[in-house]
Amino acid sequence: MYLLSDILGRPAADIDTPALVIDLDAMDRNLAVMAAFAAKHGVKLRPHAKMHKSATLAKLQMAHGAVGVCVQKTSEAEALAALGVNNIYISNEVVSPFKLKRVVALARELEALGGQLAIAVDSMEGLQRLAKAVHGQHCVIRVFIEIDVGHGRCGTAPGAAAVPLAAEIAGHPALQFGGLQAYHGRAQHFRSVAERGESIAQVIAHVLATTAALQAAGFEVPLVTGAGTGTFSLEAASGVYGELQAGSYLFMDRDYASNERDPAQPAFEHALFVKSQVMSVCADHAVVDAGHKSHAIDSGLPSVHGLPLDYANGGDEHGILRGALLPAIGETVWLIPGHCDPTVNLHDHLLGVRGGLQHGKVEQIIRVDARGALT
Ligand code: PLP
Ligand code: MN
Repeated sequence: MYLLSDILGRPAADIDTPALVIDLDAMDRNLAVMAAFAAKHGVKLRPHAKMHKSATLAKLQMAHGAVGVCVQKTSEAEALAALGVNNIYISNEVVSPFKLKRVVALARELEALGGQLAIAVDSMEGLQRLAKAVHGQHCVIRVFIEIDVGHGRCGTAPGAAAVPLAAEIAGHPALQFGGLQAYHGRAQHFRSVAERGESIAQVIAHVLATTAALQAAGFEVPLVTGAGTGTFSLEAASGVYGELQAGSYLFMDRDYASNERDPAQPAFEHALFVKSQVMSVCADHAVVDAGHKSHAIDSGLPSVHGLPLDYANGGDEHGILRGALLPAIGETVWLIPGHCDPTVNLHDHLLGVRGGLQHGKVEQIIRVDARGALT
């Protein structure tokens, strides 16, 4: 293996395998398309950085109009903040007192950087723990009440259940009511446009019912935040959502490409690839050096970019290719991972290639700064 820095500026052909590679031209187009979409629809963009876990990419998204990023974990926020990302929303519940101490330290750090920390809550217990941790610490945390809009994961029931939480937030000067967190994760991956449309219509009804209950109790809802790569055009068109949290659009994995495309939604290109090479060939299959230690398989196996080959799981370190025309030993095969987020989390670095995967050059080495950040 070459030294990582030695690959900078070299042809993509020289990248040893397996390696996680970004097609920078495709990624830049995805970035621009999403920024234009958000601007056109008058919604803010706060991409989910749990996808790439990289401060470089978070800052790139913010330079292209994103107001900040979401993360799922306190440690992800810490890793990004340490590298200067100053506007972070932990779109998730944090209840451990140890972590809440870190959350407060982060809030102070982001304020010092001219930004702000936000966090989600879905229970009185969680809210009171947060309030206790931040009390007297001279910082302000923006709090979003998460409602369960149909996913069946975190979130308080839609409607009146949000009212006591908003009232509790109002009683703590260090907490500021940010609005509602309303995200339906499973709906992102419903294959048909019709199914996604039906489930997001229900999501919007839940948001409206909750907003009405809050307003009736005297609480305005400053912002509704949510949406992912599968449905964001629906949330954007609702007139209810003010902020979109899509993350995977930047890399576009095989799973999302399997969704029937909504014409209202811009098309994204695959920008994330596992570069692999053929290490063995026999009569009816070839074997590449990328197995499920190179790419996550929770959302299915990778597809093979540009070649009529099927990829079958060969275990930790192997992939089995079948098709009419098998590649030869040493040949490069570019794989499109099934699910980008957990794939990135398997790698220390992303190699950014400019000028195409075949003939381009390695322009950038991007560290996965929050790799393995689980706490
Ligand atoms: N918001 C939340 C709360 C999420 O959990 C996720 C991903 O699971 C997203 C947004 C972004 O989704 P995606 O990367 O699929 O666009
Ligand atoms: Mn995902």
